[in-house]
Amino acid sequence: MALDSKVPQGPLKDKWTDYKNHINLVNPANKRHIDVIVVGTGLAGGSASATLAELGYNVKSFAYQDSPRRAHSIAAQGGINAAKNYQGDGDSTYRLFYDTVKGGDYRSREANVYRLAEVSANIIDQCVAQGVPFARDYGGLLDNRSFGGVLVSRTFYAKGQTGQQLLLGAYSAMNRQIARGKIEMFNRHEMLDVVLVDGKARGIIARNLVTGEIERHAAHAVVIASGGYGNVYFLSTNAMGSNVTAGWKVHKKGAYFANPCYTQIHPTCIPRSGDYQSKLTLMSESLRNDGRIWVPKNLEDVKAIREGKLKPTQLTEDQRDYYLERRYPAFGNLVPRDVASRAAKERCDAGFGVNATGEAVYLDFAASFERYGSEQAKIQGITNPSAAKIKELGQEIVRAKYGNLFQMYEKIVDENPYETPMMIYPAVHYTMGGVWVDYNLMTTIPGCYAIGEANFSDHGANRLGASALMQGLADGYFVLPYTIGDYLSNDIRTGKISTDTPEFDAAEKEVSERIAFFVNNKGTHSVDYYHKKLGKIMWDKCGMSRNKEGLEEAIEEISALRKDFWENVIVPGTATEYNEQLAKAGRVADFLELGELFAKDAVVREESAGGHFREEHQTEDGEAKRMKEFQFVSAWEYKGEPKEAVLHKEALVYENIEVKERSYK
Ligand SMILES: Cc1cc2nc3c(=O)[nH]c(=O)nc-3n(C[C@H](O)[C@H](O)[C@H](O)COP(=O)(O)OP(=O)(O)OC[C@H]3O[C@@H](n4cnc5c(N)ncnc54)[C@H](O)[C@@H]3O)c2cc1C
Repeated sequence: MALDSKVPQGPLKDKWTDYKNHINLVNPANKRHIDVIVVGTGLAGGSASATLAELGYNVKSFAYQDSPRRAHSIAAQGGINAAKNYQGDGDSTYRLFYDTVKGGDYRSREANVYRLAEVSANIIDQCVAQGVPFARDYGGLLDNRSFGGVLVSRTFYAKGQTGQQLLLGAYSAMNRQIARGKIEMFNRHEMLDVVLVDGKARGIIARNLVTGEIERHAAHAVVIASGGYGNVYFLSTNAMGSNVTAGWKVHKKGAYFANPCYTQIHPTCIPRSGDYQSKLTLMSESLRNDGRIWVPKNLEDVKAIREGKLKPTQLTEDQRDYYLERRYPAFGNLVPRDVASRAAKERCDAGFGVNATGEAVYLDFAASFERYGSEQAKIQGITNPSAAKIKELGQEIVRAKYGNLFQMYEKIVDENPYETPMMIYPAVHYTMGGVWVDYNLMTTIPGCYAIGEANFSDHGANRLGASALMQGLADGYFVLPYTIGDYLSNDIRTGKISTDTPEFDAAEKEVSERIAFFVNNKGTHSVDYYHKKLGKIMWDKCGMSRNKEGLEEAIEEISALRKDFWENVIVPGTATEYNEQLAKAGRVADFLELGELFAKDAVVREESAGGHFREEHQTEDGEAKRMKEFQFVSAWEYKGEPKEAVLHKEALVYENIEVKERSYK
């Protein structure tokens, strides 16, 4: 099948408007006869469900949590971008578009990104109208902060809980439709397969996670909004339940899977403390607005700090290496995530890591305490304030901005970050890859859509901070509701889709057999045993630093691990009760296939891009060397198993921005 991105003709800035003016619509009376399934209730799925129901479609929404409100989106801390230019600092739709394409290493589809930048401003209006309590300045106007990879302040935020507040907005909109009967909500239900009838997506097989019952659900279209698959690495900042199953099932039924090997490695996470950890915690990128990143200049000081003989606060300014400010003076601590992650790894690999594992750098707020404190002293008319008073006043300002993040850090690390610098290290955070979609957000299966983090998205090889929430809500509130109508306009005479068909029989049988296998296989190793082993291979061989040899080993090792899993896994309990291990077994089985495709994709991409560095292809100073010949989307077609997957390429054509070497100097 030839990949057709269906990008409309015409100038970039007019594409979306012209397209909307000419696509087919479904009239309100006909919408009442059309059903749509939405898998996922995070910001992407929640906003899509609410909007489709508001438009008049009958929506069935699915989530494996006990409430839509618990989707992983709730974890998002830092903020959401929008090209409002409220700060008057030169922002515009074009600049947001430009920053996103450049930040993604010129590996995103221009037309999608421009549309994203265009609708970004509407998202803020929509959310404010819903009552989302964005931070406001002294005069009551919406406030902004800055994020990595940009030179303007365009990030809207709600303290360190932006995702939670946005999700409550989308959830309220959903609830209104649940109350009207326009959304039927299936909590604690996990989609385990998609059903195709005459080549079109016409329903799903879901498992009721509480009773174990296998259910059939039919619809005229299926939307996958199931989030990202960072947990393929075992340790990530994602919610423990985040998984690839929904996306992987549609892939196995014919949807192409794009750019699987691009993940975002976030520079500001709490470092790993040991081998028995099951989760990593993010410290929001917003902290880089006020925190300065450094390691000691001298290895003797590093050694003394590690041995507990020296405190970081005892080092003078000239004994510290603020390496981001040194290497990238224009962007300083606000370089994009991939650049900051790489630089931290480079310093730690050179022996400058400041904790016991040697994998930590400092994020220090002392300069901000002083800067804010001096300003506050002036405002409050305090003459000759003492250093302690200045620090106290400065800390109050920092507490108001990031108090919950500081509290979270202290609870996890047991150190007070107001008194000693935080320690941070890069960790897996977001998956740029996902199900391939065209301009309509439709996969290569007709009638099957993918939105939010589940699709391969608009972010190329690296996502700029605060752009995932923007993309999820753009897809759900402002893009899909238009484009899906164009497809559904052909279904106004189709009538109800039956679940009593051979296609549903076959899909249900397959799902039931797999579940029966798990509970009946009396193996020796737990599901987590395999997940952890997979994560180690992924991090060691498919993580930030990669080489051909290691990746080829990873393919073989994952393949062997998968074989072992299917022979020796043990799942306690039964299939007719609430059984977390059983649910996880299915998810890890899919990770074991995805992991192999991931490594295969990374082998093909002989490039350094985003957070991933092919050791064969990086510049002398450890930077990513941008390679024009890799400006394509890799879209994989499933052929029986990951090793056999066939690569299709979508060439990316840059007409509207000048593609330069990616420099943040
Ligand atoms: C700690 C952290 C902080 C972040 N902070 C920011 C930030 O400040 N700004 C920003 O822009 N981005 C941020 N991100 C990224 C952002 O939060 C996510 O990319 C985004 O929320 C994903 O939204 P989503 O709707 O696509 O998926 P999710 O919110 O992950 O929702 C997935 C949904 O799918 C459901 N689901 C999954 N599989 C199935 C299945 N098989 N059957 C049924 N239901 C299923 C789940 O129940 C859930 O409802 C952060 C990410 C992390 C990890």
